[in-house]
Amino acid sequence: MDIYDVVIIGAGPAGLTAAMYAERQGLRVLVLDNIEKQPLLAEADIVDNYPGVKQISGVELLKIMRSQVESPIKAEKVISIKNGDRAKFIVKTDSGEYHAKTIILATGATHRKANIPGEEEFVGRGVSYCVICDGPLFKGKHTVVIGGGDSAVKGALYLMNMGAADVKLIHRRDELRASKFWADKIKESGIEIIWNTIPKEIKGDKTVKKIVLMNVKTKEKTELEVDGIFMEIGSTPSSELGRKIGVETDERGFFKTNKNKETNIEGVYAAGDVSDTPLRQIVTACSDGAIAATSAYNYLKSEKSKGHDDGQDSSKKE
Ligand code: NDP
Repeated sequence: MDIYDVVIIGAGPAGLTAAMYAERQGLRVLVLDNIEKQPLLAEADIVDNYPGVKQISGVELLKIMRSQVESPIKAEKVISIKNGDRAKFIVKTDSGEYHAKTIILATGATHRKANIPGEEEFVGRGVSYCVICDGPLFKGKHTVVIGGGDSAVKGALYLMNMGAADVKLIHRRDELRASKFWADKIKESGIEIIWNTIPKEIKGDKTVKKIVLMNVKTKEKTELEVDGIFMEIGSTPSSELGRKIGVETDERGFFKTNKNKETNIEGVYAAGDVSDTPLRQIVTACSDGAIAATSAYNYLKSEKSKGHDDGQDSSKKE
């Protein structure tokens, strides 16, 4: 059984950059990519804040990043990580098993849900978590976007420009979280912002017909007739795999890492959206990936110098 120096779980910007840096250090690298869950970057219609590229779609940027990786990228879903006998870790996927000396968790994040009645029932029938993917289906229709961050503001502007009959932004506070750049753009656009308001329920028959809203200050409830509801309320980390092997997380479920992107478990690193980074952007995910790969390299080099690199489980020999 071959032993990889690094198995990287996740093929978004963090995982792919980690692969690039690790292979350039001469490490034997494998990237595992769960095709059921595409990186959030793939949903960006236009990326215009990644240095060196003026404007590019998320899909195109990912394609270029993938083309820069020479190591194998296997479309396999990781089921579990266990301690190994010959190698430190055994990574089991839906179609194979791989032995690894180190692991980089770059599993990203998924869309946060509002957890309100009707939300799950109407997914794909008027409720969406991706404006770029589903927005074009709502040309000429009445839409609302929930959230006050960059994704929500960008999403509302996208819907307006795409030709939705009507777009309203619904935000739970009286101030946007979005960066000034996007906040200014939505204020200039004329899109109505319904402040201090949260969604309470989604109603419909075959498709969405209404959303019940509540003003958090007055507790007054109102109903709005809508065809499309876009939940752009942030993300939750995909940290289950790491948590099962004891990787510590913060109170919101993001992996705790130090400045070297090391977790509390020797030989396990976390990078990108799934880690407790202060900024979740493409550029910071790439930076995390580069740091994690370099830390894995330094760790393997120090293990070698200690004479632990004979394919055996180094953690048991200490
Ligand atoms: P954020 O976490 O930044 O924003 C989530 C928004 O949803 C907040 O306004 C939050 O309200 C609101 N929210 C959270 N939970 C609920 C709930 N249960 N009910 C109602 N509202 C809720 O997520 P984003 O996806 O917007 O952004 C994530 C990261 O990606 C950020 O760093 C952002 O800058 C970046 N990004 C950058 C883009 C760019 O073009 N530069 C584009 C898109 C994202 P509250 O404000 O009260 O917490």
